Amino acid sequence: MFDVPTTLSPSRVDAFTNCPMAFRFSSIEKLPEPPGVATTRGSLVHRALELLFTAPAPERTAERLEQSLDTALAEYRSHPDFTGLRLGAEEIERFEHECRVLTDNYLQMEDPTEVREIGLELKLAAPVGDLTLRGIIDRLELDQHGGLIVTDYKTGRAPSAQFEQKSLGGVHFYAFLCDQVFGQRPTAVRLMYLKTGETITATPTAQSVKFLTTRTRAVWKAVERACVTGEFRPRQSALCRSCSFQRWCPEFGGDPDRAAAETAEAQRLATV
Ligand code: SF4
Repeated sequence: MFDVPTTLSPSRVDAFTNCPMAFRFSSIEKLPEPPGVATTRGSLVHRALELLFTAPAPERTAERLEQSLDTALAEYRSHPDFTGLRLGAEEIERFEHECRVLTDNYLQMEDPTEVREIGLELKLAAPVGDLTLRGIIDRLELDQHGGLIVTDYKTGRAPSAQFEQKSLGGVHFYAFLCDQVFGQRPTAVRLMYLKTGETITATPTAQSVKFLTTRTRAVWKAVERACVTGEFRPRQSALCRSCSFQRWCPEFGGDPDRAAAETAEAQRLATV
């Protein structure tokens, strides 16, 4: 029996549907996970773009973006998400190069001097029944008619057509939050895939927002049930290869009930 969480974000909904067992480790037991190169690179590039948009529109040049990236790199040099990667000199060089490629690609995708942003890294929350849905919007802006546009930067690959709808799940989540917080449904939600230069644009509808709440309630019920019964089923997939909890996963011969105690002991030994 576990305490039922009271908030849910798009990434948590995805985490539960991908593998309830991994969700138990990360979101219910809150076991720490070592940083990953892809995640840290993504956060750093998001930060560089956030810094770019703090400049007045006419000053958002390639040079300004380069400066923003340099600032973000300097900020991350002592950040545990970066130091925890334990990269060697060559790997750091590659890491920085990859960040530069992503920000260079960004400039090929849109002209930042024309963006009318009204919010950056915006934290929004809205209730659905007893649950609070939370999300962070990378960028909220206005279109030429004053409608809201949500932009989400992605630093991984664009999904294949087969998985495109799944990747838009988070998008409808943001549309729902805007609807609740600002009383206005966005006219468009854009996913900018900086690696490949592709942009996927979705137009949220009353139906898609309703579907989001129905789906979230269903996921929520499943989380609640799992917390009460203690049954978080492992679901094997390609994600197992990079799963930090594999050694406690029953699918790999582990015992999930030892995870919390063993993690606490490892942390204790690390501080001795
Ligand atoms: S190893 Fe795979 S099945 Fe096991 S918890 Fe991790 S993601 Fe889930």
